[in-house]
Amino acid sequence: MTHSFFGGVYPATRKASTRRKPLAPLSPAPEEVAIPLLMCADGLSAPLVKPGDRVLLGQPIARRAGGGAAAHASVSGRVTAVENCPHPWGGVSPAIVIRNDGREAPWEEIPQPLTTREVSLTLLTQRVEEAGIVGMGGGGAPIWEKLDQAAGRVDTLIINAAECQPYVTADHRLLLERGKYILRGAELLSRCLGASRTVLVTEGDKLNAVESVEHRRLVRGGTVRLCTVRTRYPLGAEKQIIQTVTGREVPPGGSPLDVKCVVFNLATVYAIQDAVFRGRSLTHRAVTVTGGAVSRPRNLWVPIGTSLRCLLENCGGLREPADLMLTGGPMMGIPQDSLDTPVIKDTNCLVCLTNLERRPEQSGSVCIRCGKCVAACPMHLAPTFARQALEQHDLARLSKLHLEDCISCGCCSYICPAQIPLVDRVRQARQALERGGFEI
Ligand code: SF4
Ligand code: SF4
Repeated sequence: MTHSFFGGVYPATRKASTRRKPLAPLSPAPEEVAIPLLMCADGLSAPLVKPGDRVLLGQPIARRAGGGAAAHASVSGRVTAVENCPHPWGGVSPAIVIRNDGREAPWEEIPQPLTTREVSLTLLTQRVEEAGIVGMGGGGAPIWEKLDQAAGRVDTLIINAAECQPYVTADHRLLLERGKYILRGAELLSRCLGASRTVLVTEGDKLNAVESVEHRRLVRGGTVRLCTVRTRYPLGAEKQIIQTVTGREVPPGGSPLDVKCVVFNLATVYAIQDAVFRGRSLTHRAVTVTGGAVSRPRNLWVPIGTSLRCLLENCGGLREPADLMLTGGPMMGIPQDSLDTPVIKDTNCLVCLTNLERRPEQSGSVCIRCGKCVAACPMHLAPTFARQALEQHDLARLSKLHLEDCISCGCCSYICPAQIPLVDRVRQARQALERGGFEI
């Protein structure tokens, strides 16, 4: 039985152009990759290589330095620079640039592959840290810390395959094509964390992937339960997926651990099992390249650090100028203005929208007090009150609206008939609260 979460919206899914496209290697391969030192929410990593060094595929090229995550060469070749490059999270970040020699010569000093029985929580955490695995569903949370915090404190492990953003099908393909590895990874996590139930959650529009996983699950006799739910955005957000599976509500300002749950993104689970059972570091990921402006939308298996330009070359380029280009889906994605921006560990999609596809620029006409933004907000917030208090510079009122709970899902902006950019207003209101005042 599944439960329901409050609010949400039903945007058109627009996945038809890629859901049947298998994950394909890049051809042409990137001539160079730029691997940013910033791929983890904890901060920058420190380079281990310098210009002129030769590197092999999978070789460590940056280490954790307080914060940050280890990074590994995603191609073999020569380091040409350590310099600032555009970053998909915004602005620029230092990156290690490697000219690809096209040989894919592997780094031989990989850790010894382990069997399930050999893996303890300590060993798992160590492997995940060495392999540089961060949350691949967005945000780049350090997974070794998440494992550490969750061990012995959870009864439910949720594998998040609910790809609820429109256009994105990378996780769908990963589940369909590599489901047996994901099941194995889920069982490993479940055992190490001491969870009594493990649930893999997908949406109803991935029936072929669900059937394939269900078949493997029955053959393996494993303990992972499948849960298929109706598509509603933002089902894939942590708090909403927990409520859907368990009926438990994460308290405001709290974490999933407060309700004995932990959630891992599907791609992250794939990377974890790869690190443990095959000794591989995180060097590649699945990326959907799509949108009406793209000539041949596809799903690709991409070396980290590949430019958006190279992704588009692999899809026949643009058939018409893109009016808006985003990494991530159209609801929560980040606008990109440079094709030199590289794919990082949490980049699941490049979507290039035509003028007709993108939502019209939100001009912010007059609120008609319909209440739709309040009904759609999955975090029980009142975006229209935030907008009002922001306009009136009423800090005292803003402080009572619990805006720190906003997950920037964009449901309020999406639903507003007056086309008020509410998600931006809420963000501005939060910034005003943090600053303790308004910008003049
Ligand atoms: S963006 Fe924030 S305020 Fe708007 S619906 Fe989502 S959680 Fe609510
Ligand atoms: S959805 Fe838009 S028009 Fe309706 S109450 Fe909210 S802000 Fe006002």
